[in-house]
Amino acid sequence: MRVTWTGADLTFRLDPEDEITGRASDEHPVKLAINSCSIGGVPDDAHPDLFAVAAWTIVAPWTRRRITFDRAVSAEVAQALHAGWGVEAGPVGAEPRRPGDRLAISYSGGADSVAAATIYPEAPFVHFRRTAHPRVPNRWPHYRSDVLAKLAARTGRELSTVTSDLEFTLAEPRPGYPEHHAVAVGALLLADRLDLGGLGFGYELGSRWLGGGRYLWRYTPDNPMWSPHGRWGRLFAAAGVHIVLPVGGVSEAVTMRLALGSDLKEQVRWCLRGTDGPCRTCGKCLYKELIQAAVERRPLDTPITADRPVARKWLRKPPYGGQEMIQYGLARVPGIENTLFGPVLDHFDVTEESTGWLERCYPPALEEIPGRWRAEAAAFIEANVGLMTPDEVRRVETWGA
Ligand SMILES: [Zn+2]
Repeated sequence: MRVTWTGADLTFRLDPEDEITGRASDEHPVKLAINSCSIGGVPDDAHPDLFAVAAWTIVAPWTRRRITFDRAVSAEVAQALHAGWGVEAGPVGAEPRRPGDRLAISYSGGADSVAAATIYPEAPFVHFRRTAHPRVPNRWPHYRSDVLAKLAARTGRELSTVTSDLEFTLAEPRPGYPEHHAVAVGALLLADRLDLGGLGFGYELGSRWLGGGRYLWRYTPDNPMWSPHGRWGRLFAAAGVHIVLPVGGVSEAVTMRLALGSDLKEQVRWCLRGTDGPCRTCGKCLYKELIQAAVERRPLDTPITADRPVARKWLRKPPYGGQEMIQYGLARVPGIENTLFGPVLDHFDVTEESTGWLERCYPPALEEIPGRWRAEAAAFIEANVGLMTPDEVRRVETWGA
């Protein structure tokens, strides 16, 4: 793979051994659509390691053996690429980037990132806004990135909105981040200007520790995407931008409660389709409604009926994505047996007691927050959430066993 930046426009050329259909770190097959993308709202004079890591979040799935950058990178970044992916990276020759002093939040506006933002009230936001690609038709026009960007602008926080069409480099399954980390390209390229040493993401307990997605039903301390000791964590650290997961130890029930109780509650939006409010008819709205109803201890309120396509997955057997939250909702939503989730009750024997661990924080998640940002998160979590008991910790660590 050869990558070239022209300003903040990226083009890349595959080497003979590279693949059109590659695999992302979550093992999803991803098919390449086009070898160019652009990033707006960022400077063109960032440290070469920041350009290198930003490029890698886009081209990693299609790269097999080597990557050639258009400017020399540090030995640290080249080493992290070799250790993590087995690729030869070069040319090497830059001084490593010294980490900055500040933490920014990669802010989507969903409940998880709002909860992360609430823990660090001084942290600036970097918001990724999808734009159209000049040469790739948009096959998923429902995504209202304009609405989400407007909501982010109303938070009152220091905000950098980064625009990009990089999701259109990916042809299948549909436009999206080639690697999940591509959401951070803007924050990476802004890291010098914003003096960043850390970047906070809203990945919660399910994504970080319970194998949400790839490792359904399995405890994953070694999660290669979000563990600070994993290959992505080491790569970001090599570029002086540590991955920070402020809500990595709490479930989506807790992030929902924190987000809806925060001073950002008017701007929370997990639905990608709605305009004046959540659409209430997409799969994500249904899933989040189950969690919200459980948190608020009220009946499910949804126009979706069991015959709708988005309800169909609940007629299948588990495992489900976000299964711990399904169990949490089944145990807590009054009258759930009379809703489209009724048949799912047959698969689980859950109670409020058996799902109580999902209301507290898994302590190792705080321990892996880099030292300079740990105390603030720990104090917030102890004051607003509480820590799991040893028995509850065991629930996490035997998940899927
Ligand atoms: Zn929706």
